[in-house]
Amino acid sequence: MAEMMRAIRKATAAPGLVVEDVPRPTPGPEDVLVYVEAASLCGTDLHIWKWDDWSQRRIKPPLTLGHEFCGTVVACGDKVRQVQVGEYVSAESHVTCGMCYQCRTGQAHMCPNTEILGVDREGAFANYVVVPEKVIWKNDRTKLPPDIATLQEPFGNAVFATLAHELAGQTVLVLGCGPIGLFAVGIAKAVGAKAIFASDIRPKRLALGETMGATRVFNAAELGESMVQTVVEANGGYGVDIVFEMSGAASAITTAFRVVRNGGEVILFGIPAKPVEIDVAENMIFKNLTVRALNGRRIFDTWYKTRWLLEGGVVDLRPLVSKTIGFEEINDAMELLSSGEACKIVLLPNGGKPAAIPERSRQREPVPNITGAPVHR
Ligand SMILES: [Zn+2]
Ligand SMILES: [Zn+2]
Repeated sequence: MAEMMRAIRKATAAPGLVVEDVPRPTPGPEDVLVYVEAASLCGTDLHIWKWDDWSQRRIKPPLTLGHEFCGTVVACGDKVRQVQVGEYVSAESHVTCGMCYQCRTGQAHMCPNTEILGVDREGAFANYVVVPEKVIWKNDRTKLPPDIATLQEPFGNAVFATLAHELAGQTVLVLGCGPIGLFAVGIAKAVGAKAIFASDIRPKRLALGETMGATRVFNAAELGESMVQTVVEANGGYGVDIVFEMSGAASAITTAFRVVRNGGEVILFGIPAKPVEIDVAENMIFKNLTVRALNGRRIFDTWYKTRWLLEGGVVDLRPLVSKTIGFEEINDAMELLSSGEACKIVLLPNGGKPAAIPERSRQREPVPNITGAPVHR
C-alpha cells in the first residue's frame, strides 16, 4: 500500500479547503520528490479558497494547493542529472512547455501551455511535492531559512516589476501595500530611489511600508479625492517619476495616471477584477507616459536577482512573515489573509523538522556539465 501524507486540498467545487490524507506522490523519470519545509500562502490561494469566478473556471478539484515553497530533495527520477538527494531547493511554480514561440525566445513566463503548481497540477501544501527537475532552484541553507526561501517565488514578481526600471535618484510611488507592493518598497529602497511613497487603505500595511523603507505613507481611504494633490505636494509640487500600481483597485489605477509626472512611467501589476476606465488623451498621450503592464517573473533571470537581494541581505523580508501555521489552521489563516490584516503566512507542513535522508541515497555521482567547470548552483 502506498505511503500516505497530509495535504491541503480543494476537495470539491465549493468554498473552503480541507486537510486530507492522500498517497505520497512518486517522482517520474525527470521529476524530483521534495520534502516540504515551508510553503507560503498567496492571493491566488485566497481566490481558490473563496471559490470565485476565476477559480471556478480554472481549478479542477480535487487538487492540492500551494505554489510557493522550499524543502529538501528526498528522491530523484532516473533521468534527473543536476539535482541530488539532500539538496535544499525551491521551484519556479510555472512549468512551461519549452517548445512554443515564447519559451524558445526567452519569454517562458508568457508560455500559453504553462501549468502552475497548486493551480493546474498538484501543489506544495503537503508533506511532499513532486516537481520536474527543470523548475528546481537550489538554495543556500546557511543564507536562507525556510520561511524566507519560500518567499522567493512571490518576491520574484516584485523583483521583475521593480527592477525593469532605473529607480536610482527617482521618486517612486507604490500603490497598494500587499506583499508584492511591500516587496517593491524594499527593492526601491535597496536600489537607491530618492523618495519612496506608499499608499494603502489599512494602517497595519502602511506601518509595514515604513518598516520596508517608505519615506512617506498615504492612507488612500482617509485622503480620498485629495490623494493626488497630497502626494504631489509631498513631492515638492511635482508629479511622481515612477508609479507602481500593485493593488488592482480601480481607484488606485486612476490615481496612478493622475499622479505621475509628464514623461513619467506607470507600471501596472495589480490585477483589476473588472475593466477600468482611463482618460487616454489627458492622462496618457498628453503626458507622454511610458506605461508597462507586467505579469510573472523572467525564468530564470529574475531568480538570480532575487537570490542576490535575499542571500546578500540587501532586502530583509523577515518583517513581512506575519505568522507560521500547521495544516489544521489553514481556513483560519485564509480568513486572516482575506481580512488584509496579515502579510505573508507560512505553512510548516512537517512542523519545521528536517528531512530524514537515508545515507546511501546521498552518494549519487554528480554529472559534470559540458565545460567541466563546477556546476553553477
Ligand atoms: Zn503566489
Ligand atoms: Zn511554452
